[in-house]
Amino acid sequence: MIKMGEIVNVKEIVENKKVELKRRIEELNKRNIFPKLALILANDDNASRIYVSNKRKLCDELGILEDEYTFDKSVTKQEILDLVNKLNQDENVYGILVQLPLFEHLDEEEILLNINPNKDVDGFHPLNLGKLAIGDETIVSCTPKGIITILDSLNIDLKSKNAVVIGRSRIVGKPMIHLLLNRNATVTVCHSKTKNLEDYTRNADILIVATGVPHLVTKDMVKEGAVVLDVGINRIDGKLKGDVDTQGVLEKVKYVTSVPGGVGLTTVVSLVENLVEIAEKINRD
Ligand code: NAD
Repeated sequence: MIKMGEIVNVKEIVENKKVELKRRIEELNKRNIFPKLALILANDDNASRIYVSNKRKLCDELGILEDEYTFDKSVTKQEILDLVNKLNQDENVYGILVQLPLFEHLDEEEILLNINPNKDVDGFHPLNLGKLAIGDETIVSCTPKGIITILDSLNIDLKSKNAVVIGRSRIVGKPMIHLLLNRNATVTVCHSKTKNLEDYTRNADILIVATGVPHLVTKDMVKEGAVVLDVGINRIDGKLKGDVDTQGVLEKVKYVTSVPGGVGLTTVVSLVENLVEIAEKINRD
């Protein structure tokens, strides 16, 4: 009989994380600390509205205060910068989140750079990416942080493991590389210019796929007993598909995450975790 791998129960991992965060937030509240998250939405993209609404819902569920600032297309870069500066000064605001993408006429890079790095809950500021590279993980981009939560929950020791990351984006691949290195994995990064991708993936104990290419990774490309984390979210004929052929690889791997119901579930909870870590750090220092 073929021994099948397991689809990771990410829902359960997230529920456990929420219990832990609720406890930490209550501890802060007892000390009269009520961290607030400010969310800035300046685009007319439906998916972004849903993402912002999900983030607000989780904040409400866990007892985090939140304010949403929504702008229409007439907004100027200066108006957003003025708001960011006001929020930077507001000591009740512990986290500032600018939902991307912004309206095309706005300068995304300049706006992100103006967020106080200590309030950069999304972990996109170059200073936080740099800190991560030297081992300070106070504020880490939410999706890679969520992947570490999953690996920790599965009790996977990354030390000396061959970890392969496919994708080198600023929000997933690059921070992921450093999180793995910080845990003493041997890290290989593949991307759209990599030749013979399978030569790398077949050697991966841990395989993290973040490309946006539906079912890029198939059974013949994975190592027996590997742990595969599928970050991709691809909408095909109204259905969500990941970057990994989940059912195919399941016959060979130890664990694989599904899409939907996988890595995506941890992203929002990591945002709240960043906020809690910011609040704990400020009030400890
Ligand atoms: P991106 O477009 O910024 O980067 C994609 C990366 O994949 C690039 O580095 C590119 O070099 C690499 N790539 C593309 N085609 C490839 C190929 N054929 N072989 C090898 N590498 C290839 O994307 P991103 O923002 O990193 O997102 C990647 C995917 O993850 C998308 O589907 C996105 O929707 C999804 N995503 C999910 C979450 C979540 O919460 N689950 C969060 C962020 C992104």
